[in-house]
Amino acid sequence: MKKFFLGLLFVLLVIVGILLFNTFRMSSKQVEAEPLAKVDFSDQVYQNLSKAITYQTISLSEDAIPDSAAFFGFHRFLEETFPLTHANLSLEKINTYSLLYKWEGSDPSKKPLIMMSHQDVVPVDQPTLGAWEAAPFEGKITDTHIIGRGTMDDKGTLIAVLEAVEKLLSENYKPTRTLYIASGHDEEVGGGKGAAEIAAHLKAQGVQAAMAIDEGGYLAEGLVPGVNAPVAIINLAEKGFASFRLIVETNGGHSSAPPRENTIGMLAQAIVDLENNQLPYKLVKPIDSQLEYMGPELPFFTRMAFANPWLFKKQILEGLNAHTTTAPTIIDGGVKNNVIPTVAEATINFRILPGETIESVKAHIESVISEKVRVEPVGFLTNPSPVSSADSESYQRLQRTIRGLYPDVIVVPGLVGGGTDARYFYEIAEDVYRFYPMRLNSESMSRFHGIDEKISKENYQEILQFSYQLIRNF
Ligand SMILES: [Zn+2]
Repeated sequence: MKKFFLGLLFVLLVIVGILLFNTFRMSSKQVEAEPLAKVDFSDQVYQNLSKAITYQTISLSEDAIPDSAAFFGFHRFLEETFPLTHANLSLEKINTYSLLYKWEGSDPSKKPLIMMSHQDVVPVDQPTLGAWEAAPFEGKITDTHIIGRGTMDDKGTLIAVLEAVEKLLSENYKPTRTLYIASGHDEEVGGGKGAAEIAAHLKAQGVQAAMAIDEGGYLAEGLVPGVNAPVAIINLAEKGFASFRLIVETNGGHSSAPPRENTIGMLAQAIVDLENNQLPYKLVKPIDSQLEYMGPELPFFTRMAFANPWLFKKQILEGLNAHTTTAPTIIDGGVKNNVIPTVAEATINFRILPGETIESVKAHIESVISEKVRVEPVGFLTNPSPVSSADSESYQRLQRTIRGLYPDVIVVPGLVGGGTDARYFYEIAEDVYRFYPMRLNSESMSRFHGIDEKISKENYQEILQFSYQLIRNF
């Protein structure tokens, strides 16, 4: 017996030893960067962003025709507001509304940089109008903020990049590397006619960029438990997106004599089966890089968990939502309270983890639910994007730019659950990243596509500085 306990103690000690060894071996991956001087942007930049907001470049649905007056008005506004940019850069309009600017670099051997954004915005939910601090398309400027649809998503980015270029031109700056500014017009409905076409156009010209950068990563404040410093999340990949309709068809009947298998009950069972049989959590790329970069910055016990995913995988991966998610979003069935319907349908939305596909998700659904339920893909579908590198030279440059501007910020790579136009650019850029230094906390997060979308003047200045320095650093 004594031998047994000694043996157990030995095993425990070995485990603790491994845990501690891995924890202390984990060293910070943050780079030292030359501090970057602040550049002066006048208050006019707030007026410009405010004006940009007043053009109602709304995307309603994939099939809806864009409001040409709003887009053309917006394009005219850009020409008037950024004269140097329009005189020195070439501009092509792709599919009438998407914009592709090109600032030719002096050294053709250097691969281009592509800075992305989108011009369209989501509509405002009419019943929530009254809850806004100012009308969503008024472009109100307060002492501290610019309010309106598009300030965060995503006109703020486009206007900031153009301000940076205009400023660099006014300083007679000449880039060695070619810069493209690509701004789609339908990101909010999938980007199929905008960003996808821009990418196809660049591909046809044989463009291979060093890096494309887009929205979809940010400066997270107070969102990582135990970390006080802001965390700059550079998203290297995005999850896929697929919805499937579950359809149950029966002969229906009179509700006084319900059959054993009722249409609605069968559908409900299928939904419950899916929710009870979630797709597994997996430690895939780029989650592994996220652990490596985030781990060393965490308080001791969380760091120990991140340093030892072999033991704490489940908790970590659940915290990061590292699996294909299952979300029932629409349900429909029945016409009258005494009639058993002949049809009932539900739509389930999945956000697909890298490594899985639309096909593998469909196979999973069919293996989990009754074969009496039909499964059909519905609406926009896309596989997960490829995963860019967290070790490339572009990543290092990007990281140095961020650390040069904000030395206290922790830079980590990640995976974004939502979709962006960036997914179309993997074929024409070596690395595709999602990051602009918009500061987000749990409160401002809900303003995306929500009520009171707004950006602080201070934070907008940071996005301007970042855009300016990023172009220079490349
Ligand atoms: Zn967006």
